[in-house]
Amino acid sequence: MKVAAEKIPFNVELIRQDFPILKRKINGYPLIYFDNAATSQTPKQVIDTIVDYYSNYNANIHRGVHTLSQEATDKYEGARKKIQQHFNAANPYEIIFTSGTTHGINLVANGFASELKKGDEVLISALEHHSNIVPWQMLCEKTGAILKVIPMNENGELIFAEYEKLLSGKTKMVFVNHVSNALGTVNPIKKIIDKAHEAGAVVLVDGAQAAPHIKADVQALDVDFYLVSAHKMCGPTGVGVLYGKEKWLKKLPPYQGGGEMIATVTFEKTTYADLPHKFEAGTPNICGGIAFGAALDYMNEVGFHEIAEYEHQLLEYATKQLLAIEGVKIYGVSKEKTAVISFNIEGIHPYDIGTIIDKLGVAVRTGHHCAQPIMDFYKIPGTVRASFSFYNTMEEIDLFIEAVKRAKAMLE
Ligand SMILES: *Cc1c(COP(=O)(O)O)cnc(C)c1O
Repeated sequence: MKVAAEKIPFNVELIRQDFPILKRKINGYPLIYFDNAATSQTPKQVIDTIVDYYSNYNANIHRGVHTLSQEATDKYEGARKKIQQHFNAANPYEIIFTSGTTHGINLVANGFASELKKGDEVLISALEHHSNIVPWQMLCEKTGAILKVIPMNENGELIFAEYEKLLSGKTKMVFVNHVSNALGTVNPIKKIIDKAHEAGAVVLVDGAQAAPHIKADVQALDVDFYLVSAHKMCGPTGVGVLYGKEKWLKKLPPYQGGGEMIATVTFEKTTYADLPHKFEAGTPNICGGIAFGAALDYMNEVGFHEIAEYEHQLLEYATKQLLAIEGVKIYGVSKEKTAVISFNIEGIHPYDIGTIIDKLGVAVRTGHHCAQPIMDFYKIPGTVRASFSFYNTMEEIDLFIEAVKRAKAMLE
């Protein structure tokens, strides 16, 4: 049952030494952190970057002529370039720093209020996170546009033929996640984007859950907007980016007014700054942006190909072990999946399993995972979600399986 060591593409024990939190004990047990889809853990290289910023060059950016301000500006703009290169954006100013995916989606939704009119249609997928549902509902209320949903099947996959039927000359926008946070389904976004463009629609892809596992190339995808949060990919909370094609970012109005986003201000009229500053009002999360750059450096050093390969091994091993437990049902069995397992045990509430296995040191998420429509589809209140990262191990999965078995025995 054990996976042969030579199949593992990198030294996970060495990698684990980079993550101080993995040495923690929870209720006397070693921490087993399987809630990576909610937020990832932070390697010391990123923690050191944060300490270095506040210890050595904390200053406001783009304003001061003094040395610290220039150093902070250089590092912050350097991080923007790293992010640009990582996602292969054509220009650094197409990378807008945000506080995270939710902020970026709201920025775009706000901008499109003047582009949509009554009777226009926007398509959203059945697999979305609430943060890629609610802003569009708000936009439709404001504009009179109609929200339509691309349906999913029992496997947790979008039904492509139904998507094609929904597309028409009325379709103005399509919103879809690259990977579902609740089920792990990887959506065929290239096909979705191409079809939408044929119909003349703009496409926004929520990449929050894909970015820790898949290196997206925004130019190859030809996507109009792509969003990520740093905290899901080894970076800090409170920072993320919105990638937008230059033509859209130029066209959309600013989201917030304030300092940093202006060219000139008089009481009669304000003119806006050029990209990316037009969308970056106020003092940003300077340290967070720089630390996001360090997180990308770290993950690229580990290697996205290696990460994907290893996480797939974790997923297959855990899936097999879980299914061997009587009464386990896994939700989301798409062939294309990241290392997320959403499951229930017959007759037991997910919350009870989560609470008991926490007593044994295992951190999983329970509930609807900010995706209530998916739970409604399966007619369940929620699931237990175990989500893996490249710093997890096969041994941790064995301990997790033991913990689930113990919880089951106690609850039956
Ligand atoms: C986490 C997540 C979000 C929200 O990200 P925030 O960092 O909370 O703004 C949106 N969509 C998906 C698919 C996610 O996994």
